[in-house]
Amino acid sequence: ALVVRYRMRSSGRWARVAALLKELEERCATPVGKLRQVADAMAVEMHAGLASEGGSKLKMLISYVNNLPTGEETGLFYALDLGGTNFRVLRVQLGGKERHVLKQEFEEVSIPPLLMVGGSDELFDFIASALAKFVASEGEDFHLPVGRQREIGFTFSFPVRQTSIASGTLIKWTKGFNIDETVGEDVVAELTRAIERQGLDMRVSALINDTVGTLAGGRYHDNDVVAAVILGTGTNAAYVERAHAIPKWHGLLPKSGEMVINMEWGNFRSSHLPLTDYDQALDNESLNPSEQIFEKLISGMYLGEILRRVLLQLAKEASLFGDYVPPKLEIPFMLRTPVMSAMHHDTSPDLKVVGAKLKDLLGIPNTSLKARKVVVQICDIVARRGARLAAAGVAGILKKVGRDTAVKGGESVPRTVVAMDGGLYEHYTIFRECLQATFEEMLGAEAAASVVIKLANDGSGIGAALLAASHSQYRELEQS
Ligand code: BGC
Ligand code: MG
Repeated sequence: ALVVRYRMRSSGRWARVAALLKELEERCATPVGKLRQVADAMAVEMHAGLASEGGSKLKMLISYVNNLPTGEETGLFYALDLGGTNFRVLRVQLGGKERHVLKQEFEEVSIPPLLMVGGSDELFDFIASALAKFVASEGEDFHLPVGRQREIGFTFSFPVRQTSIASGTLIKWTKGFNIDETVGEDVVAELTRAIERQGLDMRVSALINDTVGTLAGGRYHDNDVVAAVILGTGTNAAYVERAHAIPKWHGLLPKSGEMVINMEWGNFRSSHLPLTDYDQALDNESLNPSEQIFEKLISGMYLGEILRRVLLQLAKEASLFGDYVPPKLEIPFMLRTPVMSAMHHDTSPDLKVVGAKLKDLLGIPNTSLKARKVVVQICDIVARRGARLAAAGVAGILKKVGRDTAVKGGESVPRTVVAMDGGLYEHYTIFRECLQATFEEMLGAEAAASVVIKLANDGSGIGAALLAASHSQYRELEQS
């Protein structure tokens, strides 16, 4: 009798799991019709954000970058990249003529989590001291003309209202950062003061978002790059807009007639987005409730966290792991996206990787194959939703710039390249492939054939250095 009762309970349990899974799948569904609505909404919001300050959830920030690299840039430049889990410093000796990078070196430092939520000076001092150490290690094969100041391009990957190419105030923090006293401050002034505290003599000659850096770095290698997307800890996009199409810009019309716009698409929101109760709860309990909704559906900081929330619910309500509700599953951000990706890509017949991760990371011993399969299914639902929405975002940008069709006004649309960067895109293969496939599904084979989505690995570092070069205080000297 005991055996029979156990079987009944067990089958009831799997029926409940199946029901919850089915519900999740339906709520997360992104049929192509829905994606078209998302792309359309993105294009509409882009217009609204360009029309007036505060006209949309999309801030459509003016970058003050109106000339992208030409390949002629020359000299020694530094770049500093702050924005995700790691922080990078880089130096590059640009050779001018034909995009010649003579030498390049970088160092990566992970940011102590406490510094992300502490004081402003502490964070900037940490960065400046890493920079000072790095500068001190500059070798003979880097060359700076006598009497010149070293210059840096500062990639600061948060929403900034720029006041010039080399100044701008922080609008808000995103991702895991939350330092109140920096909001509203000029981040270049903050950095410059910290550099001075290190006794270092350096000048920030460009302040850019990582998307803008990736666009610049991408353009250096390929003239057809018109947009850049970051899919990493956070997500965002930048693209080249016609200056005439920016009603809120009251400055001089740049000679190039163009201006790079930092969309801050992470903050996009629309009634067409497939939000679940899990997303709602994640948002409510986040550092930035009701902000960055698109980002919370797509980016690397959140995918693993969504998975954790679903697993916890299934453990509690459908005994996914038997009577045991793993306490570690209750801890926010316990399940990171790289782990999710590893489980998702597990091709072993008994899902060994999944079993090992559940055991080692969450302390769930001896999971059944059935339970492991459920875990993979959830990874699939969550990752595909994110990838498909990201593809819809890209389609929205192309629509806005008139490159979402093969032919426009009787003429064929030129080759279009979208530069991509970020760990999520680079390392999560299923995510990347799903994005590509969805993009082709949305645009149709003919239009998709002229659009290339390509990985621009650390384009933003070199991009920052290139923009520092083209905005150098010595530029006139170089040209004369
Ligand atoms: C920030 C953007 C940044 C993106 C990718 C977002 O959270 O708001 O400025 O470009 O992350 O790093
Ligand atoms: Mg980055």
